Amino acid sequence: MLELFYKQSLAIELIKRKARIAMIQKTTGLSIKWLRKAFREYHGFSARAGNEKQSTIALTRTNRNYKEATIFAVCYRNAETLMRRKEVDIAIDAFDAFKKIHPYAHLDFPEACVIIDDLKTNAIELVKCSHCACWNLLNARLCIKERCGTCKTQIEVMR
Ligand SMILES: [Zn+2]
Repeated sequence: MLELFYKQSLAIELIKRKARIAMIQKTTGLSIKWLRKAFREYHGFSARAGNEKQSTIALTRTNRNYKEATIFAVCYRNAETLMRRKEVDIAIDAFDAFKKIHPYAHLDFPEACVIIDDLKTNAIELVKCSHCACWNLLNARLCIKERCGTCKTQIEVMR
């Protein structure tokens, strides 16, 4: 019973942040039907269908989007080091910290989950610009030369 209560409260936390139903289902094991109903009751509209898997590159078309993605990645890496907890709790904490820093950001929770996936598989990488020390996200944009999102200096990657 307690386990079901935990699953349902976690599902509600994810629904509040408009996570994808497929993601909530995978995380909690609750039925799609229950989740769709809960989503509708909470938001007053139905959850978006589908589970389109994007890459971070699809989320960084403008420099503004790129900066949001980078800030979220920093929040995620922070949440990760601060807490040894379940993956989903880290994602929630990181997203909440991000929204606190950036209340009007366009980046939503499902998109933040795409960034998390790419960070975990090392498809993208957080680095500091050697010129202005701002964070940047490598391999996150459709461009050949990686330039700092803040000072536009070309980023030199030291490996
Ligand atoms: Zn810079």
